[in-house]
Amino acid sequence: MTGADLEKQVCLNENCPNYRKRNVGHIIKKGYNAKGNQMFKCKTCGTRFPETKGTVFYNRHLTEKQIILICKLLVEKNGIRAIERIMEIHRDTVSSIIEDLAQHAREVSDFLITNVGLSQIEIDEMWSFVKKSKRKLNKEMLDQTNLVTAGYTLPSNQKQSST
Ligand SMILES: [Zn+2]
Repeated sequence: MTGADLEKQVCLNENCPNYRKRNVGHIIKKGYNAKGNQMFKCKTCGTRFPETKGTVFYNRHLTEKQIILICKLLVEKNGIRAIERIMEIHRDTVSSIIEDLAQHAREVSDFLITNVGLSQIEIDEMWSFVKKSKRKLNKEMLDQTNLVTAGYTLPSNQKQSST
């Protein structure tokens, strides 16, 4: 096994001077957890943590599962209020998660396709819904989401499919 990419790991301790910084050389491999997953350690603050695959899926408030569920709900065109109701998570939290997702659109798309099994079409629907429903997206977020959906064209047979 090639192991987790060291350079992809970031320290998620907010009080750490190297919080979320990449390639600063402060992250080292440090043993394994009970499940046998590679663990890492931030040399700066001493925090030990598991592999941060899709960094955006590690959140202070929500589990990876919950964030994946939010993505799935977005694919099905559930707005922030609907997600708030379904998951009983405050809309501000949902909203900040969506912003976070958009900011890391490429990483999120890869993760959802590879690890969750969503299709490219579903991913595109998710981003276009996010863009439509979320006017607060800043330019960087829009650029990110455009990057991952740009160049995607619907196969001609689907364009013509009758209604
Ligand atoms: Zn740290």
